[in-house]
Amino acid sequence: MKGVIFNILEEMVIDRCGLDVWSELLEECQTEGIYTAGESYPDSELLALVDKASQSLEIPVPTLITGFGEFMFGQLVERYPIFVEQSPDLFTFLKSVDSVIHMEVRKLYDSPNLPEFTCFEKDDGTLLMEYRSPRRLCLLAEGLIRGAASHYATPIQLTHAVCMHRGDDHCALEIKVAA
Ligand code: ZN
Repeated sequence: MKGVIFNILEEMVIDRCGLDVWSELLEECQTEGIYTAGESYPDSELLALVDKASQSLEIPVPTLITGFGEFMFGQLVERYPIFVEQSPDLFTFLKSVDSVIHMEVRKLYDSPNLPEFTCFEKDDGTLLMEYRSPRRLCLLAEGLIRGAASHYATPIQLTHAVCMHRGDDHCALEIKVAA
């Protein structure tokens, strides 16, 4: 995981729980917590921080990861407003993630190890996003999608009926604009 993701986790924990909680988490995970945005750090370190945060804040890990994704979206928009400026609405944005946005991310960061998204627009107006990544962080993707929906002020219904955590070979995230 790139340092920028750790930076955003740090911002979220400090923002919601204060600096003391973040310092405690770093201590418990035996890390100094100095992360450079463009450098890579072990995924296990991020997951250990999330795990400890879940314990000390008494928030289940899945809820924490989805909430983190949602928060992350806002932070990424602040850092890289151009990514959303190119898309006038939520679905246009989501459909651009795999091609346009991830291509730009590859220019910004050296080998960022990104997940793969395949989008299909169905006749009933639902957008189906297939998520594939050996990290299986589909809940983070779910949170990011929810963050994008609030950015575009578009209420959505999201279903996640196909999931790698339930033995499928990919995750299917179905997004429907709520009436
Ligand atoms: Zn999944």
